[in-house]
Formats: sequence, C-alpha cells, structure tokens
Amino acid sequence: MIIQKNMSLKKFTTIRIGGDSNKIYFPESLEDISSLKKIFLLPKTLIIGKGSNIAFSDKGYKPDIISLSKYHNTHISIIGNKYISVSASISCARLAKFCHKQSIAGFEFLHGIPGTVGGALAMNAGAFKQSIWDSVDSVNIVNNAGDIKNISCKKVKTSYRHVDKNNILLFLDVLLVINKRKVFDVNILREYSEHRSITQPVKQWSSGCIFKNPSENTPASSLIDSLDIKKRKIGGIYISKKHCNYFINDGSGSCKDLIQLIQYVSKLIKNKYNISLTREICIYSNNNE
Ligand SMILES: Cc1cc2nc3c(=O)[nH]c(=O)nc-3n(C[C@H](O)[C@H](O)[C@H](O)COP(=O)(O)OP(=O)(O)OC[C@H]3O[C@@H](n4cnc5c(N)ncnc54)[C@H](O)[C@@H]3O)c2cc1C
Repeated sequence: MIIQKNMSLKKFTTIRIGGDSNKIYFPESLEDISSLKKIFLLPKTLIIGKGSNIAFSDKGYKPDIISLSKYHNTHISIIGNKYISVSASISCARLAKFCHKQSIAGFEFLHGIPGTVGGALAMNAGAFKQSIWDSVDSVNIVNNAGDIKNISCKKVKTSYRHVDKNNILLFLDVLLVINKRKVFDVNILREYSEHRSITQPVKQWSSGCIFKNPSENTPASSLIDSLDIKKRKIGGIYISKKHCNYFINDGSGSCKDLIQLIQYVSKLIKNKYNISLTREICIYSNNNE
C-alpha cells in the first residue's frame, strides 16, 4: 500500500484549498483495506474521493486520510440485465458513459458530477431532479467496527444531499438498479452536458454548489442572485457570475477567505429572507482550530 506524508491537500480538492496532510493511505486491494482497520476506527479518519466537494483548513488536516484512487480491484459490470455493479473509486462520468454505451437510461445526470461513485453515495449527489440513492439496491461498506459488510438500501436513511452514515465509514462498491421503465434517449447525455457548460463555471476551481437549496422550489442560487453581490470577492475567493452558488478560487484563495465569504452570504440571506443556508461543501479542520 502506498502511504504519502506531508502532502499539500490543495491538489486533492477541486477548489484547491488546504494546508498539508499528515498521512494519506492509498489501499490497493481488499487486503490493504482490511489492514487499515485500526486507522478506520480512529474518530477523525477521513475518506476522500476526487475532492470535488471538500476543502481543508489552511493549517492542513493532521488525522489520517484514506483515498481509494489507487485501488486495483475496480469494476463496472451489468448483472443479469437488472443491476449495475460499480466500484466506489470509479468516476461518476465513467459510470454515466458506460450506461450510455450500453443504452441504459437513468444515469445520465451523473455525467457532469466530477466526483467518484463513493463520493456521490456519501453526498447523495444528484442533478436534473435525480439522485444516486434513487437507484441503489445495496452497498458494500466498511462499517463502524472496521468490517466489510453488505447492506441493503433499506438500512440507509437518505434525503436531499444527505446520507445517514451512522454505521458507514467507507463505501466500497454499489449495486444499482436498472429502471426498465426509463426510456433510453441518446441525446440526453449531450443535452445535460451542454446545459452544464452554459450555466455553470465547470472549468474553474470550485467545489460546485456551496450551499444546499433550502427547498425544491427555492434554489440557493436564486436567493444569492437577488442580493446583487455577484462581483463580491474576499481574498482569492469570489462568487461566480455564471452561477452564484459556485465560489471560485482565483489560485490565491485560502480556507479563511472561503469561510468568510460563506459567512458573509449566509448573513445577508438570513437578514433578507430569514433563511439559514446549509453548507453543501464539507470543510475539514483539526481539533484545535
Ligand atoms: C464543477 C462541479 C460540479 C458539481 N456538480 C454537482 C451536481 O450537479 N450535483 C451534486 O450533487 N454535486 C455536484 N458537485 C459536488 C461533488 O462533485 C459531489 O458531491 C461528488 O459526489 C463528490 O464526490 P468526490 O468523489 O469528489 O467526493 P469528495 O469531495 O472527495 O468527498 C465528499 C464527501 O464524501 C466522502 N466520501 C468520498 N468518498 C467516499 C467513500 N468511498 N466512502 C465514504 N465516504 C466517502 C468524503 O469523506 C466527504 O465527506 C459538483 C462539483 C463541482 C466541482
């Protein structure tokens, strides 16, 4: 197993924010995962995917980090024309393209989500009115005791961008249900991609939406838009003009800048609408901060 020490965590996040790590473990096999049992059981051990929804403190993150990015035993396969079995370390884009090639409908929404399947399961990622847990049958996980178990979707409570991970430390792979009632349309993938590149700053350093939508009919972006603060910048972090729920790092941004901008926007929304926005981005810091 590869173990890297004192790495800059910036490059492990798509918003390029964070100080240094202590140790990052890269298990390559199931045996490696089993050998990490003690590390899994430490309270602040963190799993990372592609880092597309996380930022780290400027002082770094000293507890252990585990990444599946060098895991060898990855797979993506159709089982009995009913299910897709896919490893957590595979990217959402690859899963969407795989389904597209196989003319399987229902997973096109994952195409523009720049994370892993594991990250999508942890966040209940979604777009275009669909979320990954809508299609989950069961997951293989590492549980709180550090053991590998298979659990049914019925045992996991999920809601919009939230998954109750009480007894889940790591998603290893997932069995997704193919919904035969959904009709495959060869154009959907392209249409979703075009919509994204027109409406979202997909090529800049961000973590996607900073805030969750307060309700289905109240997108956080509309609320922020109404504040007319699209040019607001704190340090190196600014609100995207293309999609104001995206905060962009110009390359010089720090975690402190990001938190200040989040607090600034949250306060204005609270004052104007009496709505408390909830963060979608996960920000990790050390105990003593
Ligand atoms: C340009 C852009 C567009 C985006 N669009 C969308 C969108 O349309 N919809 C949407 O929902 N999100 C979107 N996001 C946010 C992000 O891509 C998703 O939340 C994604 O699912 C995160 O996956 P990841 O692998 O990057 O996870 P990370 O960001 O690395 O981690 C996110 C969380 O998941 C946990 N985690 C990661 N892997 C595992 C695992 N294997 N087991 C257990 N826990 C794990 C981490 O501990 C962390 O708490 C976007 C982000 C960007 C930058």
